[in-house]
Amino acid sequence: MNDNIFALIYLIATILFIFGLKGLSSPKSALKGNFSAMIGMALAIFATLASPEVHSYFWIFMGIGIGLVIGVGVAIKIQMTAMPQLVAILHSFVGLSAVLVSIGTYLSHEARGELNSVLLVELGLGSLIGAVTFTGSIIAFGKLQGTITSNPLVFKGQHYLNLLLGLLMFVLTGYLAFAPNVVILLAITLIALLLGFLLVLPIGGADMPVVVSMLNSYSGWAASATGFTLGNNLLIATGALVGSSGAILSFIMCQAMNRSFISVILGGFGAEAGGDAAASGPVKNVKSASSEDVAYMLENSSKVVIIPGYGMAVSQAQHAIKELFEALNHKKIDVKFAIHPVAGRMPGHMNVLLAEADIPYDFVAEMEDINGEFASTDVVLVVGANDIINPAAKTDKSSPLYGMPILDAYKAKQIFVIKRSMKPGYAGVDNALFYYDNCTLVFGDAKGVCEKIVGSLES
Ligand code: NDP
Repeated sequence: MNDNIFALIYLIATILFIFGLKGLSSPKSALKGNFSAMIGMALAIFATLASPEVHSYFWIFMGIGIGLVIGVGVAIKIQMTAMPQLVAILHSFVGLSAVLVSIGTYLSHEARGELNSVLLVELGLGSLIGAVTFTGSIIAFGKLQGTITSNPLVFKGQHYLNLLLGLLMFVLTGYLAFAPNVVILLAITLIALLLGFLLVLPIGGADMPVVVSMLNSYSGWAASATGFTLGNNLLIATGALVGSSGAILSFIMCQAMNRSFISVILGGFGAEAGGDAAASGPVKNVKSASSEDVAYMLENSSKVVIIPGYGMAVSQAQHAIKELFEALNHKKIDVKFAIHPVAGRMPGHMNVLLAEADIPYDFVAEMEDINGEFASTDVVLVVGANDIINPAAKTDKSSPLYGMPILDAYKAKQIFVIKRSMKPGYAGVDNALFYYDNCTLVFGDAKGVCEKIVGSLES
């Protein structure tokens, strides 16, 4: 294949990736978007394999084969609820590969005496972005998996240490450009690995969604840096698409959660070492009700809002909720779904599950559109959500949730919260809403309770 055909295939692949991203901006077009990106990726792999720079296929196919077996195995077994951890660990692979490509390229070019200043800066940047992404994503994986506490881990002087390490990395990268030495490249990598840990450890539970999308962005920039190193235009363009779309998503999420974008990317700047709010304070009483009570109240309402949260994903209650939605619709009751931007454990988590159960998009409202409607709502049914409805985010300055906009469920006439126990949500804090006079808990697994409510509705 000549160079023009390569360039054309790479261009088509890039355009397909852009269509892919565009498609993913709405649940309605997400399938088409995915399909377009898959074709783009198939073209990209085909063109790369046909490239004259590829002299032997053995190691490439070994890598593809091993990756295929592991990837297909994981994809089949993975639970929807564990998807965010999977995404985080996949980001770490991109980071690690950027580091390995940088070090490998350094060694091969050094052996051929082909190192130059521009290449050395690319290698330094590729290695540092890759290493920060690698360790940052591992910590994000641990926090999402629950193996590392979701509380912010902060210590005195942490931000100054981060600043010092950041400056040192860039100074060493500049130095590397004029005094090539593999030890300097390794030192940059080690400092970046440490910085990745330090940047993500202080991020509290409520801010994890932004960090996951920020690491997604970093992984894109790492891939782009690798593209420069390898002289591969498609990798440069694809990495830039992932990097910029991830950064835009993080920015939008920061705005939605009332967080400072700069604070989050600089490692939870301003995060305080908070206590365990769930454990503190006097023991308070909550009211509880049965699924029959909920059914009775729902039947006698004219306006109902359902708020799904992470617990809906855990119990896979979306199909039971669809039945409930249809049964209430049949009774001419106005039912809507309210989606918080960080409900669940990944952006769009609730939208995906509701779409899977064929709940029409027209009945699904975003936070800013529905918040004005709670005051006129008869019953709010919360299905496995917690942090996203916690009024402490508005009233308690000591809460790690403080400042995050919430779904204003507390304004409704009656709120029912389905959950299994008094355990807190992801942020690890008690929910002030549970003690409100208009709030009643319905203890049990979300799917089971929803099915019982449907069964208790008068036909
Ligand atoms: P939360 O984690 O705050 O609460 C989930 C609730 O679901 C818990 O109270 C839990 O209580 C209940 N639950 C769990 N399993 C079940 C079940 N089988 N049946 C019934 N209830 C169940 O979830 P939210 O969606 O309200 O908030 C999301 C949180 O996750 C936010 O803090 C957000 O910042 C964070 N996060 C979001 C990400 C994203 O991108 N969306 C990524 C990472 C973190 P119990 O155990 O008592 O049943």
